Amino acid sequence: MIQDIAPHQFKNEYRPVSPQKDSIALYYEEHTALMRRTQTGIEFPTFGELERLNEEIYENSIYLFTIDEKQYYLVDNLNREPHSEFTMENTEIFRTADPQYSAFAGITGYQLYRWYQTRRYCGRCGHKMRHDTKERMLFCEHCRNMEFPKICPAVIVGVTDGNRILMSKYAGRSYKKYALLAGFTEIGETVEETVAREVMEEVGLKVKNIRYYKSQPWAFSDTLLMGFYCDLDGDAEVTLDEEELALAEWFERDEIPVEPSRDSLTNEMIIKFKQGEV
Ligand SMILES: [Zn+2]
Repeated sequence: MIQDIAPHQFKNEYRPVSPQKDSIALYYEEHTALMRRTQTGIEFPTFGELERLNEEIYENSIYLFTIDEKQYYLVDNLNREPHSEFTMENTEIFRTADPQYSAFAGITGYQLYRWYQTRRYCGRCGHKMRHDTKERMLFCEHCRNMEFPKICPAVIVGVTDGNRILMSKYAGRSYKKYALLAGFTEIGETVEETVAREVMEEVGLKVKNIRYYKSQPWAFSDTLLMGFYCDLDGDAEVTLDEEELALAEWFERDEIPVEPSRDSLTNEMIIKFKQGEV
């Protein structure tokens, strides 16, 4: 999956050290990120490559994380060199781009960028927020409101019935492949309760023996995905929530339509079931 970048090591402890010339600058505008495309994949600019037109860049950056010994920072209000080899690319590129650790850095920085963008002012009193010096936290000096990065838990659910699994397609979305059921955890419920509720809401089925598989950070929707398998409990006839899903069908293991892809937990869970490993 996209976060599996070994032997590279991602360290996200907040360590607000000053950037150096060879530190990496992540710069975003809406759904795009600044990078150069090379024969071997994508590369982000270093501070040294941006400093000529951006004298304040060293002071006006926010420390994000480290991969191996390289530090990554978020930069803002960038002046860009004319005819530069660096271009703004849609963040969807991170789903497949090489090297994988750079794609993971790009997508993770993108999630933090969106969080900083939407927390510039205090949600309680409207004053400007300032960054804490010790941790990744925004703080309102006026009303003492504190904001920490937002992560929304959500579940991916493989509903199984002996040798078959329930696959669905979303309604009204650009993603057209088969997926497993999924949904966000609501306030006041456990993730296991989310599993049972989402399955009931989306396909009208009861489930039992809910068992955790694995998790995945999913920056595109500020989510921490948690994958579960569970067994059908009773009647297998699907009652579709047509606002959420275009269809839902049972597939025998050897008939499951799936191609391996790097990025998603859903994909891995479908393949594990198909191969008889779960
Ligand atoms: Zn406030």
